[in-house]
Amino acid sequence: MLTRPSPYPEELDRGYLGRVMRRNGSATKKDAVTLMSIWAGVADKSRREMSCLELLSKVAGTDVPIFVRQHSLLPFRRGITSYQPDLLHGGEQQRSMLWSTGMQLARTGAYFCAECVREDQEFHGQSYWRREHQIPGMLWCSKHATPLKYTEDESAFLLPPAVQLQHCQSVDEQWVKQAFNNKSIQRYNEICSNLLDTRKPFDVKHVSVTLKEKASAQGFQTHGGKVKSPLLSDAIVNAFGRKWLATVLPALTDKPEGMHLSQMDGVLYLKTSASSVSAYVLAFAVLYESVYMALNALQSSAASTSISRQPSAQFTRDELLDAYIQERGNYSTIASSLSVSKPTLALKLATIGLPNLIQKANQSVFKAVFAFYVEKQSLQASAEKGNISIGAMEDLIRNASCDLTRALQAMQRPSGRGTGVRRARQLTPGEASSATGPVATKFSPKIRREQLRAQELRARAEEECRA
Ligand SMILES: [Zn+2]
Repeated sequence: MLTRPSPYPEELDRGYLGRVMRRNGSATKKDAVTLMSIWAGVADKSRREMSCLELLSKVAGTDVPIFVRQHSLLPFRRGITSYQPDLLHGGEQQRSMLWSTGMQLARTGAYFCAECVREDQEFHGQSYWRREHQIPGMLWCSKHATPLKYTEDESAFLLPPAVQLQHCQSVDEQWVKQAFNNKSIQRYNEICSNLLDTRKPFDVKHVSVTLKEKASAQGFQTHGGKVKSPLLSDAIVNAFGRKWLATVLPALTDKPEGMHLSQMDGVLYLKTSASSVSAYVLAFAVLYESVYMALNALQSSAASTSISRQPSAQFTRDELLDAYIQERGNYSTIASSLSVSKPTLALKLATIGLPNLIQKANQSVFKAVFAFYVEKQSLQASAEKGNISIGAMEDLIRNASCDLTRALQAMQRPSGRGTGVRRARQLTPGEASSATGPVATKFSPKIRREQLRAQELRARAEEECRA
């Protein structure tokens, strides 16, 4: 007999294992694994034949690929790879990877947010470990904009993070404030979080071509050997700062200026992974001025190859717009409703200027653009309404077409499907009670200047629509 708790949203695999262990009174991780194998009827199999991730998926009552995508760091760790890039995360042919590196961490230590802990204790009755906080370089919780806390002892994952509160370390608040204002770090964080939601990796072979083109246009050296032009690695050191880079790609921290570093500069020309996925994300975050453009480029690199391999579904602009309205701008549900992959769909929608109106943690792109385009609120007020940054708001406006206003107005009309915005996942108390969070207010420039900028952008958008 095994008590099978349901995994919490974004709960890290190791943390879930700890919960299964505690709920069943097992003293060690090993005991818990044994108990799970007996329950699953595979006690005679080795971990090589039945990995811990597969056992946890069974206990959770979900398919392995779904469990891997929602609870492991694999979608991030192999988000951009040259090793079997065609295999879906957690797919059947990936079993050897599941037992060998499936549950590996991406950074040193166990990270958590004290605010999340407090909220989770209130809402779920206990705290748990979240995936996003385990991404290298994350200094603050994207939901609460508060410095993360951590312990270097990785066995901490087997107990609730609340246990660590009294004797953990905290990321320095001043440092977090500085990093919070660094656009490159913000872009890096967001791209990493997006990778966590992918079904399969991006192929290094194509990603490097995309990066090379972009870097070449900006005058960077795009080959190894003697240094003749500015190096991408130097630009990255300047943009992110050596101290922060130490938490992501330590080799960059000590790199002298003008010295080629293949771990980093290699992302532009090596056809096999130059180093960790972080190096690629750093490159995207520094070469592209917005997350939207970076993700678009990343998805285009994948789309251009899948199109050449298989005929891609063709949709008219109106069909896309209809689906966009029906699904209230949520790329994931539009992709399922049209039976196309999310990257393919994202590319199509981005091309016609319809952004992903996602709801994440306590942020809502939908609320923000709705406030701006339909309710005609100021840039600042709209950003605050969706709890997104002014910079993110500006990116949305710059990349949106006049179809977005049409779509938002249509969404306003009763559809018979309820007027509430759909949620991608379970609400936390923070989401439920969130009004205005600290993220947007940290960007609070002069309100008047924002209003003028909003008017100008809106006028320009309207002018483009008339043209
Ligand atoms: Zn938090």
